[in-house]
Amino acid sequence: RQEMFAATRDLPPVTADGQRVSLNINAGLLIDIPHLHDSGADGIGLYRTEIPFMVRDTFPGVTAQTELYSRIVEQAEGKPVVFRTLDVGGDKVLPYWQGEVDENPAMGWRAIRIGLDRPAVLRQQIRALLRASEGRELRIMFPMISDVAEFDDARALLEREIERAAKKDEKLPTVVKVGLMLEVPSLVWQLPALLEKVDFLSVGSNDLFQFHFAADRGNPRLARRYDVLAPGFLKLLHSVANQAQEKDVSLSLCGDMASHPLEAMALLGCGFESLSMPAPSIAPIKTMVRSLKLDPLRDLLPSWLELPDHSLRSHLKSYAEEQRV
Ligand code: PEP
Ligand code: MG
Repeated sequence: RQEMFAATRDLPPVTADGQRVSLNINAGLLIDIPHLHDSGADGIGLYRTEIPFMVRDTFPGVTAQTELYSRIVEQAEGKPVVFRTLDVGGDKVLPYWQGEVDENPAMGWRAIRIGLDRPAVLRQQIRALLRASEGRELRIMFPMISDVAEFDDARALLEREIERAAKKDEKLPTVVKVGLMLEVPSLVWQLPALLEKVDFLSVGSNDLFQFHFAADRGNPRLARRYDVLAPGFLKLLHSVANQAQEKDVSLSLCGDMASHPLEAMALLGCGFESLSMPAPSIAPIKTMVRSLKLDPLRDLLPSWLELPDHSLRSHLKSYAEEQRV
């Protein structure tokens, strides 16, 4: 793996027809951070803050969180880091904190829903993120937002923390960029209003896909039933990318889909210009990007999206083979 990293680390992720894309890593622990540098990624597109919460046996306070986030920011050495606020519940359980188990956890009391119902927890986390980013840019995003009003509520908590810090003369980040994860299909229908309010969007395709097809992302019996390359799902992503581009809102995708070359190629074809993935995928995805002729794919894709097929995998494969991607 180290050799593969080394071979592509310093090559820019530019397509064969000259389009620069941004490739970022997903991280959740301090040991992930060195891979930001040895993979040559542009930044951390998803920092899952719940991971350090999950490996502890007590709830970390503001000081412990500030210390942790500061180390991440420092070790990123100026590369951007997108911090996602706590996404517990669903498949991520904190044994020391959550008493009851929801009957339907993926659709239960999780992520921002907990954050808004227990604002002290979210505010402490935001306070730690603000402190850890003093004098720098902070990028923060909220998970599992289901409507614009939820985003407004989450953002209001952030504003209150910024005001509080300012009143206390605490040093603040130079800029705070606020975004959210697009993981719940309901939000797609509110994109026009939402795009007016956010600095960036990141599609969480793992959750968006499971809710799109009503198919549990962890159920092995369903693992092969639906394809992320289904025309309907790609049509949704294509529409999101077009709308984001029209409003000039930066858009990324950080689910598993981004880590497979054919899927990543389809995403670029849909209009995505930024992807985030586990570090080991950077080298193969960059290799794909550098051999891809993107413009012809972008021209072909819209007609494929109308096909009644189960999946566009074979079309995309033929394109890749013809182009020798
Ligand atoms: C996603 O849902 O695609 C995502 C990146 O978030 P997680 O996998 O942590 O739920
Ligand atoms: Mg998710």
